Amino acid sequence: MTRMLVAAALIALASAGAVAQVQIGVDNPLRTGENQQAAVRVNDAIFLAYGFGNTFLVTTSAGNVVIDTSSVVRAGRAKELLQRENAGPIKYIVLTHAHGDHAGGVPVWKGVDTQVIAQKEHYEFVNYQQRLAGFFAERNAAQFNFQRPPTGPWAGNYDAKIAATVQFDDRYEFTLGDTKFEVMSTPGETPDHLTVWVPKYRAAFVGDNYYESFPNMYTLRGTKPRWALDYIASLDKVLALKPELLLPSHGEPVRGNAEITRRLTQYRDAIAYVHDGVVRGMNEGKDVFALMQEIKLPPELVVGEGYGNLIWSIRGIYEGYAGWFDLRPATMYDVPPSAVFADLAKLSGGAGAIAKLAAEHVEAGRYVEALHLTEVALATDPQFRPALDARLQALEGLRAKSKNGNERGWLDYHIRLVRKKLSG
Ligand SMILES: [Zn+2]
Repeated sequence: MTRMLVAAALIALASAGAVAQVQIGVDNPLRTGENQQAAVRVNDAIFLAYGFGNTFLVTTSAGNVVIDTSSVVRAGRAKELLQRENAGPIKYIVLTHAHGDHAGGVPVWKGVDTQVIAQKEHYEFVNYQQRLAGFFAERNAAQFNFQRPPTGPWAGNYDAKIAATVQFDDRYEFTLGDTKFEVMSTPGETPDHLTVWVPKYRAAFVGDNYYESFPNMYTLRGTKPRWALDYIASLDKVLALKPELLLPSHGEPVRGNAEITRRLTQYRDAIAYVHDGVVRGMNEGKDVFALMQEIKLPPELVVGEGYGNLIWSIRGIYEGYAGWFDLRPATMYDVPPSAVFADLAKLSGGAGAIAKLAAEHVEAGRYVEALHLTEVALATDPQFRPALDARLQALEGLRAKSKNGNERGWLDYHIRLVRKKLSG
């Protein structure tokens, strides 16, 4: 791929605001599936290409349906693998949601007669991503370690290009040749999220509402609230279909209704457990940090935290319901805690003493406390080497024990920043 193509691809990704999910356990999600040599034959009619977002091809007697299109970076390769299996015309593209790792490849697949189906929240969601294109470009570049692409001046609130040709509210059905498709609104990961149900194969394409990790109910690159109760209702809707094939847009197909029911029930119950714990705690007057520390899943509901995790989700639920005010009077004003960091440093013997204390925290494995202290020390001198050294060690300590892809992305970003300062 030429450099220009890569740059164009990254711009498209970032402007979609949408570097979103990964195949769980892959360190660099942008490279997911790059070594795939042939499409996976899920059954005689359904094929799968992995990517930063899976792409599915459903073949019928009258042409084909593509479900999700991966990112623009990976769509060409996915198309090549899938069309090797069946090169029939693409009659429909169905987008499980408008994140760039699902919708980015539409131009690669869409022909003049192809219908593109999305849920009606697609319009606002695409505009929201475009509205904040600069904000997301910066954060996506940071989290996934690529150069921030240029995004141009802000062009207004409703200037996004809408790929969908059909937008539905609750349900949309179509039949192509010998195969009926039922598309249903299933909000969760996003408000425009949908599920595709193909009764003939008892196959449910569930997008990002299920993957092998606790859901990313708050993603660090920034998101509107992802409502726990929406996830729960949407998972119930899929369970009621009694699927024999579960086809998530990240990770592997799941086969057999017993296993699918076990997994989706556990997933739904894990979300409900965390949601209800947060709501109970809020009603009891507990603050968000207390709940982040307190709420743990019981062993039978542990679903992994390789992508989303509990503490960000707990805070996402709490602040999704209540917003940012934490009851502290100073928080009502535009003077942040860091305004007095230099005062604290002066009182406690200067940046050197604080950096020393930070290093002691690092030694004891209290890396987050060390990070807080280095911020106080660096408020007096952003280039103060002992504080930068302690900060680097704290970040590397956290990196070494992290089991979460998003957490590692942000730790790596800050490690790069500190290293740059230390070498400058
Ligand atoms: Zn995704």
